[in-house]
Amino acid sequence: MQSVFQQHPEVAERFPDLHPPLTAQSAVIEANRCLYCFDAPCTGACPTHIDVPRFIKKIANENLRGSALTILDANILGASCSHVCPVQVLCEGACVMHHHHEPPIKIALLQRHAMDAFYASGAVLPKTSAERRNGKIACIGAGPASLACAAELRQRGYDVTVFDRHRLPGGLNTYGVAEYKLPTADSLREIELVGSLGVDFQFGTEIAGEAAFANLEKEYDAIFLGVGLGAMHRLRIPGEDHPAVIDALAFIAGYKTAGRLAVGRRVVVVGAGNTAIDAANAAKRLGAEEVQILYRRVETHMPAFGFEYEHAKQEGVRFLWQTQPIAIHADTDGELRSIECLRVELAQDGTPRSIAGSNFHIECDMVVPAIGQSPLFDLLTECYGVRVEHGRVVVDRVTGQTSNPKYFAGGDCVNGGREVVDAVADGKRAAVGIAKVLESAHA
Ligand code: SF4
Repeated sequence: MQSVFQQHPEVAERFPDLHPPLTAQSAVIEANRCLYCFDAPCTGACPTHIDVPRFIKKIANENLRGSALTILDANILGASCSHVCPVQVLCEGACVMHHHHEPPIKIALLQRHAMDAFYASGAVLPKTSAERRNGKIACIGAGPASLACAAELRQRGYDVTVFDRHRLPGGLNTYGVAEYKLPTADSLREIELVGSLGVDFQFGTEIAGEAAFANLEKEYDAIFLGVGLGAMHRLRIPGEDHPAVIDALAFIAGYKTAGRLAVGRRVVVVGAGNTAIDAANAAKRLGAEEVQILYRRVETHMPAFGFEYEHAKQEGVRFLWQTQPIAIHADTDGELRSIECLRVELAQDGTPRSIAGSNFHIECDMVVPAIGQSPLFDLLTECYGVRVEHGRVVVDRVTGQTSNPKYFAGGDCVNGGREVVDAVADGKRAAVGIAKVLESAHA
């Protein structure tokens, strides 16, 4: 898979690793700080319940392969999660070291250390001892939820095919995460590992239309929907069809996977979530002189994590609060010239209200909307009998089964857009649910 992917050579230069890896010596020293807690809160805080003290102990004993296998046993995407997990609010946030007024154990960097060693050594998993089982499963989408589901089912002996409409697999891990957090090549090598288990991948294959799903239902015993979310929300303001208005995910995918490094001189990003921050930082690193994030509420309401906000400020991104864009203007030559905004006041209950007559213009030559993704309504309504509420697929939280017993689902299409590790946990949980159903069907 990696052989078909050629990244623009400047990308690595402009997006160097945000957190350089540990050296062998510093990893052992850090591993030896761990208290190897019984009932470790770090493990409890991980949605995939990686046995943190166990993998750290193995690093301390310089058994890096054993450490990586402990991680992979719980989370087949252990490498990408070590790059992109918001550990400050998960495992590291729960580390008991905080109670001792000590910095938490660097769990993410240790996990990455073990996973890097595993991939550097050839990334071979032990042969599964599971006997071949009757049952074929189709996973729609090749993002983290589907990959986790497929790997788990394959390791249990089932035939699994993953379908994805994109040229490259990995979903947002490949296309949507800032390169300085997770290089595309690292996302792809992880998918090769899933492929090495015997999972069949069909890339560039779109499953769409009721007939396509009906065929799939005939051929497969269960279908897992790991389809993620759809296109980014539009701003719904005049001028947004200008070619210099590029949504955040398209912008990020463009520089990561399609060699599109062009950026405006003055860039305005609309929205203040983590994707908005990734896009704003990318614009800076690609050479924009000025990058501003507009948000209609205040700093304390912004959906991005606090550490992402701090990072953006360090990158030189400016924030403009209580600002509502209302139109995008081009000059007579058709060049994007400014974004027109209104000031916003917050009612006592926090509801933002635009102030009539407070119009002002921000000069810019590129606008990046980043106000969230819409659900894939069309696709989901094609899956007969799968209930969707408020744009999310409704599932049994234990088994991942939908209201149509043949369909299971997980990841962003169920949770509305959370972390990679949540999608992995969902996919694995659904795999266990699917295996249970198939086992009883073939008993
Ligand atoms: Fe080690 Fe901290 Fe986890 Fe305890 S909570 S096992 S000290 S990483």
